[in-house]
Formats: sequence, structure tokens, C-alpha cells
Amino acid sequence: MTDLVLFWHRRDLRLSDNRGLAAARDRTPQVVGVFCLDPGILQGEDMAPARVAYLIGCLGVLQQRYAQAGGQLLILQGNPGQRIPALARALGANAVYWNRDVEPYSRRRDRAVAAALKEAGIEFRTTFWDQLLHAPGDIKTGAGDPYTVYTPFWRNWIKQDKPAPLPAPPGLQPLTSKQLAAANQAGCMELPRTEDLGFSWSGGFPVEPGELAAQERLQEFCQSDQAIGAYAEQRNFPFVDGTSRLSAALKFGAVGIRTVWAAAAAAYQRSRSDEARGHVQTWQQELAWREFYQQVLYFFPELADGPYRPQWRDFPWVNNEDHFVAWCEGRTGYPIVDAAMRQLNQTGWMHNRCRMIVASFLTKDLIINWQWGEKYFMQHLVDGDLAANNGGWQWSASSGMDPKPLRIFNPASQAQKFDPEAEYIRQWVPELRSLDTSYLVTGKIPAPERERAGYPAPIVDHKIQQALFKDKYKGQKI
Ligand SMILES: Cc1cc2nc3c(=O)[nH]c(=O)nc-3n(C[C@H](O)[C@H](O)[C@H](O)COP(=O)(O)OP(=O)(O)OC[C@H]3O[C@@H](n4cnc5c(N)ncnc54)[C@H](O)[C@@H]3O)c2cc1C
Repeated sequence: MTDLVLFWHRRDLRLSDNRGLAAARDRTPQVVGVFCLDPGILQGEDMAPARVAYLIGCLGVLQQRYAQAGGQLLILQGNPGQRIPALARALGANAVYWNRDVEPYSRRRDRAVAAALKEAGIEFRTTFWDQLLHAPGDIKTGAGDPYTVYTPFWRNWIKQDKPAPLPAPPGLQPLTSKQLAAANQAGCMELPRTEDLGFSWSGGFPVEPGELAAQERLQEFCQSDQAIGAYAEQRNFPFVDGTSRLSAALKFGAVGIRTVWAAAAAAYQRSRSDEARGHVQTWQQELAWREFYQQVLYFFPELADGPYRPQWRDFPWVNNEDHFVAWCEGRTGYPIVDAAMRQLNQTGWMHNRCRMIVASFLTKDLIINWQWGEKYFMQHLVDGDLAANNGGWQWSASSGMDPKPLRIFNPASQAQKFDPEAEYIRQWVPELRSLDTSYLVTGKIPAPERERAGYPAPIVDHKIQQALFKDKYKGQKI
């Protein structure tokens, strides 16, 4: 036995502000990082090329960070239930540490790894909540239950003291050549390229992968009066670069949530007016949405498989497959919807306002099961995250924990309000670029102009579909 601890990275692809890693380093400087490319995730039908490319990019940066700190990040591929214990055995590790997760798959996987380590007589420490400011169960109702409604969750959550960021672990020790040979024997490999994993991505990223780019973007966003200082106004306009674009970094833990909070708290302190503080607090509320959805997924794992409100299980969806394909490809004849879907397809990211618009359109106008949309998003989003995506879709479908029962967005009113000059529409639907703004934001394009542009007629009529949806909804007595 050596005094060696293996630290298993999953959605915490950074050195700084990493709880489990800091605890491992407190025990010994001989901390070796490992990431296991899990076919259970990578070959699942929900994987997005953009997400794989972002992950590989983050791992490349993390390897450099380890090397700079004197240590090593090892790469494995295969079932973590076998690979991680085998590597720990091969290295003669004293213990394996990792941070906890909320997703049902991850929790099952972690239990399997823990059981295998136990059988091999290797210690494991897995009590660290790293990806959240407050662990599931820390914020509960007066009756001691998990919250199922956001607003009271937020009121309680914001009152609690937030933990401070942790520094990157100092001075790690590298593996000896004998240990390296043992690691290779146990299956450690070079970091593969995205293509080696069967994916290809050339659509760029909202923020470049890795710890340093995420930190830089965080500082840029939180130090600017035009960014966090104007967030509440700017965040609704998809043509404006008014949000942080940190969602993929937060999903993969390229930046620590305590670091994010500290930057937001500093912006709040610096603010000189109630209005300015209001902007910062609106951004903090988004971070609380992220935590809300993670804690509900933790306590209600069945959300991953279906609607929260049981009445929705038998909803008579229309599920027209041609309509679904038109929605996926951005050819519905509704310019704001098509612009948003094309942004997703080309960049792997979509503005939040547009996520709400297209989700409402799929469920309330096309009357297609929200789970189809949820899956399509997961297959394309660079930030695709079960808790946030499922939460967003259930909110839009009205099947989730939102106390407002029926929410229907009118695509034309949304476009008129949030893309009044049709700048976003023109960017993503180039064939409509030269048409009048009034046509684009109302979606009422005269047939000759529409045909000349090669743009489809609307595949459904919003008013008719709204009435149909409401009828079905009433029939279900939801
Ligand atoms: C149908 C639908 C699906 C969505 N799917 C995802 C998803 O798969 N992954 C994801 O990270 N977000 C998802 N969201 C939430 C939101 O759209 C994105 O987090 C946001 O657009 C990311 O951009 P940003 O980083 O610039 O956000 P900012 O506005 O800068 O917000 C800061 C951070 O707060 C978190 N956040 C913001 N809004 C939400 C929200 N409504 N729910 C949960 N967390 C939030 C994100 O981590 C985000 O990075 C979804 C929303 C909807 C309506």
C-alpha cells in the first residue's frame, strides 16, 4: 500500500474549488485524478456531439492543470464499476474519493463502484456535495419536506449562508514509472479525440472548454455593468449577448459553484442602486433554479421518466411525426421557432427565452409529447443536463412543479416583444433576411414573398391549435 488517493472526476472538471479533491489533498499530496469515459453515457441515445466535444476539451485542459500542479489525470474507458476498482487495486491506492451527484443513473453507478471497492477492501469517501451551494435536504419546508415549488425554495435558499470557494490543491506528486506502468496495465489510455468516440462537432462553444476559459468568462460577466449589471433587462432578448453562457461550464463543473456565487456576491456588493442589485439578484435566481431542479430530481427521481403530475400520463397527444421533424429542422413556418431550432442545431446552444418558446410551441401548438422535445434537446445541447432540461420541459408542458397550470406562449407576441427588430430571426433564418420586419415578427408573410424565399407555410394555425389543446386539457380534468 502507498499513501495514494485516487480522485474520480465526473462533473467537476477542474482543480480549483473542488470539494472532494480538496479533501483528498488534505489527506495526502499523492492524489491522482482519473476520468472514466463511460459507454453507458457516451453510447446512450441522449448524447450530443457538442457535449462530447466540450467534455474532451475540458479533460485536455484538466490534464494540463494536473501536470502544472505536479500531478496526473489518468483516462479510463469502460464500465466504472469495474474500471475504477481495478485501477485503484493496480495502483495500490489507499482510498478513492469522488463528489456526489443527483442523477438516477449516476447514483446507481456510484453505488456499484462503492460496492466493488468495498469488496476489494479499498476505502472510499463520497460524502462531498460539490456541484451545489446547498446539498439536497439542506433546504426544506417547515414540515421538513423537500420543496416542490420554486418561489418558497428561493426565499429560504437565499437566506442561507453560502460556502466560500476553495483554492486549487497545492503541490501534487506524480506517479512513479512503476505506478504508471501499473496504470497502463489497468487500462489507462491517452485522451481520445471527439472523433475517436464516434462524434464530430464543428459548431464551436458558447465558452471554450476548461477551467481557465470558464473563470475568465465568469469574471468578464460578473464585472461588467453591461452584463450582470443589466441582466434582468438584457436576458430576455435572444439577439443580445446578455446572459453568462456558463451553462456548459456549470454542467461539467469547469467552474465551481462557490466561485460563481462569490463573483455574483461581489457584483452585488459593488452595486450602487437597488436597480443594479436587482439585476444581480435576478441572475442569482437563475442559479437557484439550477439548484431547485437538482434537488427535486434527487428527491423525485421518477421525474426523469415522466410527468410530475400524474394526470398528464394519459394526455392525448397528437404526436404527428412530420410536425416533429419540421420542428427539429426549423421548418415550421413560424420564424421565431425556426430561428431558435436552427441556433440549437448549428451551435449546440439556445437562448433561454427561445427554449421556452419552442418548448411551448412543441407541446401546446403541435400537441406533441414534451418527452420528444426533452430528448431532442439532450441530443443537441452542449449544456444538456437532465435536471435543468427535464425541469424546463415539464415547466413548459405544464406537467411539472409549476403552480401555474396552463401556460401557452403565442409565438408572434413573443417575437414582437423579444425580437422586435427581427435581428435574431434574420441571423438564423437567412432566407427571410430581406423581408419586412413586420412579416417576420408576426409570422404573417404574404405567400408570394414566402414562396420566393423558399420558406414553408405555417404547419399549424396557432389559434386553432390553442383551442384544440385547451379542449384536450379540459377533457383530462388536469
Ligand atoms: C425547455 C428548456 C430546457 C432547458 N434545458 C437546459 C439544459 O439542458 N441545461 C441547462 O443548463 N439549462 C437548461 N435550461 C435552462 C436555461 O435555458 C439555460 O440554463 C440557459 O439558457 C443557459 O444560458 P446561460 O448560461 O447564459 O444562462 P444565464 O442566464 O447566465 O444563467 C446562469 C446559470 O443559471 C442556470 N440556469 C439559468 N436558467 C435556468 C433554468 N431555467 N433552469 C435551471 N438552471 C438555469 C444555468 O446553469 C445558467 O448557466 C432549459 C430551459 C428550458 C425552458
